[in-house]
Amino acid sequence: MLRSMEFKKDLYIDGQWVSGDGYLDIYNPSTGEVITQVATAGDKECEAAVAAAHRAFPGWAKTAPRVRAEILRKAFELVVAEADHLATLISMENGKVFSDAKGEVLYAAEFFRWFSEEAVRTPGDFRKSPSGDKRILVTHQPIGVSLLITPWNFPAAMATRKIGPALAAGCTMIVKPAGETPLTALALMDILERAGVPKGVVNLVLPSNTGPMISKMLHDPRVRNLSFTGSTVVGRLLIKESADCIIRTSMELGGNAPFVVLDDADIDAAVQGAMLAKMRNGGAACTAANRFYIAASVADEFTTKFTAAMSALKMADGLSEGAQLGASVSIKERNKIAELVDSAVQGGGTLHTGGKIPDGAGAFYPPTVISVGSDNLILEHEVFGPVAPIVTFTSDEEAIALANSSEYGLISYVYSRDLARAIRTAEAIESGMVAINKGVISDPAAPFGGVKQSGLGREGGFDGIHEFLETKYIGVEI
Ligand code: NAP
Repeated sequence: MLRSMEFKKDLYIDGQWVSGDGYLDIYNPSTGEVITQVATAGDKECEAAVAAAHRAFPGWAKTAPRVRAEILRKAFELVVAEADHLATLISMENGKVFSDAKGEVLYAAEFFRWFSEEAVRTPGDFRKSPSGDKRILVTHQPIGVSLLITPWNFPAAMATRKIGPALAAGCTMIVKPAGETPLTALALMDILERAGVPKGVVNLVLPSNTGPMISKMLHDPRVRNLSFTGSTVVGRLLIKESADCIIRTSMELGGNAPFVVLDDADIDAAVQGAMLAKMRNGGAACTAANRFYIAASVADEFTTKFTAAMSALKMADGLSEGAQLGASVSIKERNKIAELVDSAVQGGGTLHTGGKIPDGAGAFYPPTVISVGSDNLILEHEVFGPVAPIVTFTSDEEAIALANSSEYGLISYVYSRDLARAIRTAEAIESGMVAINKGVISDPAAPFGGVKQSGLGREGGFDGIHEFLETKYIGVEI
């Protein structure tokens, strides 16, 4: 069934499926085989996408919010109806297991549903000025043509988390998926077309030379907004690029989440939460718990139970029966994980399970638990794989200091039976999001985003649509 799947392989520009300046091989990281080839965009296609989005903007901005909402609602229904197909695509091109992929698709669909509801609720304001000399009218207008750049780890959800609010706000857009995983984004274009998105409103390009071509698009005055999800290194570069043309940016960047277990925590619940926080998406999530800080008095119990749960996971091709941990997205990414673990061991770490690349084809790396000192270099890196370094602490203050000893600040996890203590800890930790006694808190209805080197802006929740709206003040003599 899988080998005979139909793929969308062309670029989607101005409502047409078009070829480009060449082709890119798309690999299945579980087998190393080429799945198919996808068209790449040259300068001509990138220019055509910007022109199409620019032409479509006035019409889409004027379209009644209710109409935009209905289209998004239809897109939500189509994604849910076609969830198995989309999940299969994700598993094939990304390597994650089918259950994770299906979870991602349903999560991705919720962004269309949430923003179909938000499309008709854009707030405004009308009031008397304090001096009484005028009326203050505040309204929000769509920013304009938006460039949406997404990573490979959530090929569906990172796209819909941007496309949903952009469509709801009345913006037109150019979507640029990661080179490893464009098939899911192309399938989403097909769904949006069938949901009734007018031509030119959503376009997709896969540039043959990403850096220079994105740079050229950012310098095009018709492009007014950049929404990026990816690594901090690339995000930093794009903020610099955007400074040249003063365009709005929102940046969802890397994470290195601390998972703090205080000495009064329910250890079984903490282990269960740790499995979710670490292993959702095979550890390849910006929200993945990467640094496990465990109170010394409960560290043995936590480590024993967590190691047992990690070692019990079945690692296999993401589409095979019973698979619980799939492949990394590529051999290159898998080797990065292995290098970090090797250097952690050289730095004095003690392995409890895993730590060795398995024989055979595919970009696999096993579930790995390793006890390390608080100065081990692995703690400075976003591992992006199934690796859990454990460090012990002896006071809440030490735990907070360790959690904050990172340049990243996306999400943190805190486990304690004492809610007041957990909230005090959550307030002291420098991160945009904190999960208390829970392994996953991502929710389209909540603001997602980080502080420090993890980014700027928020996606989802009530904030998400504002990344695509400009505030306008109209002062009225009255
Ligand atoms: P990446 O290397 O930064 O790539 C992300 C996207 O940026 C891809 O589409 C990539 O295109 C593009 N890109 C690369 N270089 C570029 C350049 N010079 N100019 C413009 N675009 C460029 O990140 P990744 O490895 O795909 O994803 C993993 C990272 O994403 C991790 O750090 C993870 O934490 C982060 N992430 C953050 C969030 C969040 O919400 N905070 C969510 C998910 C992932 P090509 O594929 O063509 O190179």
